[in-house]
Amino acid sequence: MSELLFPLSQFVLKVHSRCDLACDHCYVYESADQSWRGRPLAISDEVIPQAARRIAEHAKSHRLDGVQVVLHGGEPLLAGRARLRRIVIELEKALHGVCGLDLRIHTNGVLLDEEFCELFAEHGVRVGISIDGDRAANDRHRRYADGRSSYDKVLRAIELLRTERFRHLYSGLLCTVDVANDPAVVYDSLVALDPPRIDFLLPHATWDDPPPNRTGETDERYADWLIEIFDRWLAAGRPVEIRTFDSIISTLSGGESLTEALGLRPAVLAVIETDGSYEQVDSLKTAFDGAPATGLNVFGSSLDVVAQHPGITARQQGLSGLCRTCQECPVVTSCGGGLYTHRYRSTTGFANPSVYCADLLKLITHISDCLPQVPADQPEAEMHVLSGDTFDALASGFGDAAAISQLIESQQSLRRTLLGAVYQAGSTAPGTPDQARAALRAAWAVLIAIDGEQPQVLDAVLAHPYIRVWAVRCLEQLRPAADRPAATKGAPNGTNLAADLSHLGAIAAVAAIRASAKADVTVPVVDGAIHFPALGRLIIGRDGAAQGEGGEPRTASVVVADGVITIRAGGSEWEMAAAGLLDGRLRDRAASAGVLPADWQPVRVLRAHGISVAMEDTDPYRDCHQWPAAPRLTDGDFALWQRSFEEAWHEILRHHAAYAPALAAGLSVIMPLSAGPDGKDISATARQAFGAVAAALPADPVILALLIIHEFQHVKLGAVLDLYDLYDPADDRLFHAPWRDDLRPLEGLLQGTYAHLAVSDFWRARREVTAGADAEAADQRFAFWHAHTRAAVGTLTNSGSLTPLGVRFVSEMRRSLRS
Ligand code: SF4
Ligand code: SF4
Repeated sequence: MSELLFPLSQFVLKVHSRCDLACDHCYVYESADQSWRGRPLAISDEVIPQAARRIAEHAKSHRLDGVQVVLHGGEPLLAGRARLRRIVIELEKALHGVCGLDLRIHTNGVLLDEEFCELFAEHGVRVGISIDGDRAANDRHRRYADGRSSYDKVLRAIELLRTERFRHLYSGLLCTVDVANDPAVVYDSLVALDPPRIDFLLPHATWDDPPPNRTGETDERYADWLIEIFDRWLAAGRPVEIRTFDSIISTLSGGESLTEALGLRPAVLAVIETDGSYEQVDSLKTAFDGAPATGLNVFGSSLDVVAQHPGITARQQGLSGLCRTCQECPVVTSCGGGLYTHRYRSTTGFANPSVYCADLLKLITHISDCLPQVPADQPEAEMHVLSGDTFDALASGFGDAAAISQLIESQQSLRRTLLGAVYQAGSTAPGTPDQARAALRAAWAVLIAIDGEQPQVLDAVLAHPYIRVWAVRCLEQLRPAADRPAATKGAPNGTNLAADLSHLGAIAAVAAIRASAKADVTVPVVDGAIHFPALGRLIIGRDGAAQGEGGEPRTASVVVADGVITIRAGGSEWEMAAAGLLDGRLRDRAASAGVLPADWQPVRVLRAHGISVAMEDTDPYRDCHQWPAAPRLTDGDFALWQRSFEEAWHEILRHHAAYAPALAAGLSVIMPLSAGPDGKDISATARQAFGAVAAALPADPVILALLIIHEFQHVKLGAVLDLYDLYDPADDRLFHAPWRDDLRPLEGLLQGTYAHLAVSDFWRARREVTAGADAEAADQRFAFWHAHTRAAVGTLTNSGSLTPLGVRFVSEMRRSLRS
């Protein structure tokens, strides 16, 4: 199988190259590309089977689940029933046993009759009809060459599709927007035809040949026209699918784009003309004569060759394939620079925003403003699922390194989604100061460039547990005031929204340092320090930062270039060697060689056989746990931690080895807490800080081993709960947890039970490896925690609130407890 990143799965098969209408807005006949003139009228008997074979060959070699083929023209019904029958039979034959076939036809409808519909019903061909609205709107463009209206015939075709016999074939209506038409009338008349879906298509245009009826680049009348329809549609409860709106809503929630005209989804479509030529997407005809051509055809080339054509791969590059303006645009994930064709300008090619840029920005912003806000800590991230075995292994209280890798990947998607959400919400929020907006843009540009070239670097940066804490804090502050929580855990002292947002600059700086890339960003100064997430902080003193006007944050400028980091703040300047920051050992050497300034406080690394964990005592967002974070540790305190960690890890490897692979894979940070009350051993985790365990250093390394195992259970379960509902979130009852005096919500009880499953197991193992009084004490603890955990499992089971997956999870816990 050849290596194609994006195999083709959508095909437009031109079955007839002429039309019985002469619409004056037709991109096939009225645009720059006039290649239709040299094409045969109908697809030939030789091209039909060869095209079908090519599609099947491609689907087979890339193991596609299904392909979509749209029969198109000109007007495809002009090909006649016999030829259309032959085409669908050839396609069905070629794809039989290879993959699914979604067959459609797009027609102007004027020739559609019962016999065509019967043919389509026989072969499951779904029918889309072009109609521009009410009679007046439709007659404005969609007429015969002699000026006659096509409206009545189109309506008759739609009525036929609405009959019970053929209703299942009715796939929807395609309406080309004309802002001269009344949008409400157009919308109402289309909805009255009861389609399953409406596609509103912007008239094809380029920067050389701008959209009709527009006064200039800032004219937003296409947005205004669509917004009037959107508001009407939303108020009516979204009675029909409207692809443009549904796509924007989907991408605003972190989902996929539903149309090639919007979003960052790679293009997977090719056109096969009546003579067997392969072409790129049809709309390119608007750009210039010959624009869609590939020079390839079904007889000489496979679709693998077409998929590698530069014109096709250019539309598969996602964010990195867009011009800089689009890359930095706050709505880019929803817009994606609009339809590729609409970006064309003869001087710069396709490296431009859409000629509809102002309209797209306004429309997407309007839709975003109308949608209920996504809860800050639960944006829709890319879908991840755990295999049944992994789920059960985690539910039993364990889970190996592979299981943790799956959780890490799902958390990574969540963090990426949050990062985009902070940028998008921060840059569009009316209250964001201009300075912070500019800082966000600069940071985002650095991150986009690095993600395009070295996505693994961005993943490594985002892996830091406290990035999600920061992102959630930003999003909470960006919510409407009434929805904001009273206080946000993890909030650094003295910061405000602008300072929090500019932390994106610090994230970008770290990404640039790790990628050996360039960056010029603004970062906040918090508590007299500049923070580089996961690397450390530079103490510059409380007076060493630029104070913005009007209460804007104290900031510093960070330039990363040629392996040197230059920091300027409040008239002072620091220089550091980038290489000195990246690795603990390197850092030590660099510091001792005087390459790093004395006031640099690196994140130190705890090491033991087979594991290294960052000791995070600098991050400004780390104080998000139940107990307060300790201040920066002295070298002496760090040495105590290092010794205790080594012994604790030794204990885990020797006596609790089943937990070691998951810990080695997933424990990335230990965050020191201030000493507990009355010298009590304390530890904690935070749902948003996956990979981090917080603890005050206990006197006994065995207890440190227990705290780490206990807390990492919360880390695992938190990530599972990010993926699945294990209980009814609407159930707000409180339950008895045997180990506490107060009552607990269901999530608290589940978390506690899951953690104590491991605690029971810990004491069971200690009972086996100790003797005398130690073994007796371990036995008592085992009995205590085992009984409590068993009782809590019973409470969970009888709560009536577990989902089917929750029942499965708790059953595995019970099974593990018994064994
Ligand atoms: S019906 Fe379609 S193909 Fe025919 S002229 Fe009108 S827009 Fe062009
Ligand atoms: S709104 Fe304009 S700048 Fe933003 S992505 Fe779309 S075309 Fe590009």
